[in-house]
Amino acid sequence: MFLHNKKMMFTVRVDEPNPEFAKMLLEQFGGPNGELAAAMRYFTQGWAESDPKRRDMLLDIATEELSHLEMVGQTLTQLLKGSPGAEVDEVEGGYLGEILDGKHEKFIEMSLGSGQNVVGGVGPRLTDSMGNPWTASYIDTIGEPTADLRSDIAAEARAKLVYERLIKFCNDSSARETLGFLMTREIAHQKMFEAALEAIAKNFPPGRMAGQKEFEHAYFNDSSNGHGTPGFDLVSHSPWGFELKKPSEVGDEPPALKPRPALASNPKNIGKTETHARKE
Ligand code: MN
Ligand code: MN
Repeated sequence: MFLHNKKMMFTVRVDEPNPEFAKMLLEQFGGPNGELAAAMRYFTQGWAESDPKRRDMLLDIATEELSHLEMVGQTLTQLLKGSPGAEVDEVEGGYLGEILDGKHEKFIEMSLGSGQNVVGGVGPRLTDSMGNPWTASYIDTIGEPTADLRSDIAAEARAKLVYERLIKFCNDSSARETLGFLMTREIAHQKMFEAALEAIAKNFPPGRMAGQKEFEHAYFNDSSNGHGTPGFDLVSHSPWGFELKKPSEVGDEPPALKPRPALASNPKNIGKTETHARKE
């Protein structure tokens, strides 16, 4: 069940509207590493999780991600407020030139350069910064905690990095505070998922079926057919003790395919397709 709590998780403010930065920030609203993707990832994993503790954590984090979505959405709205594109709808019979009158030239240019302004007005849209619509294919859940938690850790790392890059592009000190908070929470989530993965005694390899012993720790030196040493030395720098193999040491050539009887039986059909051969 969801309740609408009217307080925000963190008070969001911006110094001034900035449609150009709003366009970039859309990445964390409806983009692949954005807050909607994060919320949907953990909700769907949580509903299917049989371990009550992990389930609770996933659903708590999913709920927090929705609060992040709210914060990014409110920030977007503030960044777009008062931009010429957003004001067009409010002035009945208005002429764009009048609305733009008296606005800073750079601001007008920024506003009109943001497609967000034309389609969404002042509201955030569920797209990434390039206008690609949000899609469920951003979520790669496989239904096995040891694989999904690893993917969640990587998802949090990506979300953290996108916030970090956005902060470098943002010269609005108030918006930077919000982005700093959001970035920090993704670090916290990453640590939570690391802890949850560590708590699973047997967490690698995933699934129940064992691999084939002979190949599980073989490193095929595919550079120049096994001559020379591999760039990254997995043989001595790995807890698994990888064994170096030449690719030519395994496997045979594939067996020759038998010709199709319809074509092979009649010498007239040589070089013809099967369809042609059947007609004759
Ligand atoms: Mn988040
Ligand atoms: Mn997160």
